Amino acid sequence: MESSPKAVRQQRPLSPDEEMVHPKLKRWKGIRWKRLQIVLSIRKGGSKKESSREVSELMERLRITLRPERLPRDKRKCCFCHEEGDGATDGPARLLNIDVDLWVHLNCALWSTEVYETQGGALINVEVALRRGLRTLCAYCQKTGATNSCNRLRCPNVYHFACAIRARCMFFKDKTMLCTQHKLKGPSEDELSTFAVLRRVYIERDEVKQIASILQRGDRIHLFRVGGLIFHAVGQLLPSQMANFHSATAIFPVGYEATRIYWSTRVPNKRCRYRCRISEDEGHPLFEVRVLEHGMEDLHYRDASPDGIWDRIVQQVAKLRSDSSMLKLFTENLKGEEMFGLTIHAVMRITESLPGVENCQNYQFRYGRHPLMELPLMINPTGCARSEPKVSTQCKRPHTLNSTSVSKAYQSTFTGELNTPYSKQFVHSKSSQYRRLKTEWKNNVYLARSRIQGLGLYAAKDLEKHTMVIEYIGTVIRNEVANRREKIYESQNRGIYMFRINNEQVIDATLTGGPARYVNHSCAPNCVAEVVTFDKEDKIIIISSRRIPKGEELTYDYQFDFEDDQHKIPCHCGAWNCRKWMN
Ligand SMILES: [Zn+2]
Ligand SMILES: [Zn+2]
Ligand SMILES: [Zn+2]
Ligand SMILES: [Zn+2]
Repeated sequence: MESSPKAVRQQRPLSPDEEMVHPKLKRWKGIRWKRLQIVLSIRKGGSKKESSREVSELMERLRITLRPERLPRDKRKCCFCHEEGDGATDGPARLLNIDVDLWVHLNCALWSTEVYETQGGALINVEVALRRGLRTLCAYCQKTGATNSCNRLRCPNVYHFACAIRARCMFFKDKTMLCTQHKLKGPSEDELSTFAVLRRVYIERDEVKQIASILQRGDRIHLFRVGGLIFHAVGQLLPSQMANFHSATAIFPVGYEATRIYWSTRVPNKRCRYRCRISEDEGHPLFEVRVLEHGMEDLHYRDASPDGIWDRIVQQVAKLRSDSSMLKLFTENLKGEEMFGLTIHAVMRITESLPGVENCQNYQFRYGRHPLMELPLMINPTGCARSEPKVSTQCKRPHTLNSTSVSKAYQSTFTGELNTPYSKQFVHSKSSQYRRLKTEWKNNVYLARSRIQGLGLYAAKDLEKHTMVIEYIGTVIRNEVANRREKIYESQNRGIYMFRINNEQVIDATLTGGPARYVNHSCAPNCVAEVVTFDKEDKIIIISSRRIPKGEELTYDYQFDFEDDQHKIPCHCGAWNCRKWMN
């Protein structure tokens, strides 16, 4: 009906009073009153799209309307039209994610000629369109990324979706477009009146792979977001916690953190951020939600179950809505675990592959256990370079950097290029090997569940003895800085990855590190960590100390200093000569 070009006729009799206003005509003389019939014609459809755009343009020009507060600049860019941030609903529309850091506007993708939508709302061929767009210039703005082709056979005109609107091309309900030269002269019943896509539309992608790559980067810049949920940290579970930290439908890793965007309990019709966390309270999970709302004090909720928190929040939202006579929310089926994000497919894939989840006896596995899933699962929450204790009682505090007693083994390797035990046997000079390593390390290793602990690094191909496998990358800092940072990281519950180079310097890989930090300790290692000097800079290189067949986990001896009984870290390397303790 909305897009029907037929005129809608409305008839309305005028009241006698209104008639009096009209000047009397001579031939009506003697007639006291006459009922006039006025016919109003209102054209519906077609023009509606134009007018709403015109109104917003007018508002923009006059600057007299109240505008919502400025949000921080949204730097996500559309790969098709190169414009930043979500577009207007009746224009390019919201941004959809296609890969880490890659976004496309829904309509920029949907209106690409080769893209189609499945029954379930998946957009197919977006990648094909992106490839074509790389080489295709827009007929309107002359920039690349144009993928919306004119439907007339052999017409060369291709536009960005938004440029096609600006150029006043004609859009049809069957998702075709005719350019300015070929568009129909008059209106058509098949012309589309709005571009708003209110149904669920998404682009198929490998979520688990994507999350893994985000977590592997370890830069904490990338988050992943599923609908109204932003995911921050996986957390982990110790074997002793398994029994209490799950329900039949979800696993509750300690340190799990996610932000839910949901209706405010204080401002009607506004959304705010609910920061959800799981921590431990005397052997039981403690669920916490912190409400972050602009210009208002943070609210805190704590409960022994996620439902306990979210039932309260939802009730408050419902009350606020009924008080301000707004539409009722459908909240009957809202579950706390869902609001925490614990039942999201990608999250469950991760929680179900946490080490030791087999012991969650009442939990119903949805995706099964992945014995060797390529995911960084254990990000040591209590700190210390790769030395998370497996059982909490065995270690009261993490191993800390000891600035007075430097590991002798590391010191001995800190002698530069000449005296290292392996230099003689290198076929190439070390610096040329190092240069090659810079580009080729990715072919040497892959990250996967470790047989020893958490994640480990594995040989991706057969590695000959004395091969430079990977560099231990991080920021070089002084001892004092390292000690300070360690305290900060500890208070943030981060896994700490530091590597001592010498008496004064430490490499901090906690925030900026590469995958080398995932190499586990073993008492019978197949690699050594060697400090090598290139261009007057000290680099730590993991070098194979024997031939390593493809698929074997890489290890080196951490050679921690000995500590007293209280601070012992158990070793789980499983080697025949295992010393049972790492320090
Ligand atoms: Zn776009
Ligand atoms: Zn354009
Ligand atoms: Zn054309
Ligand atoms: Zn061992």
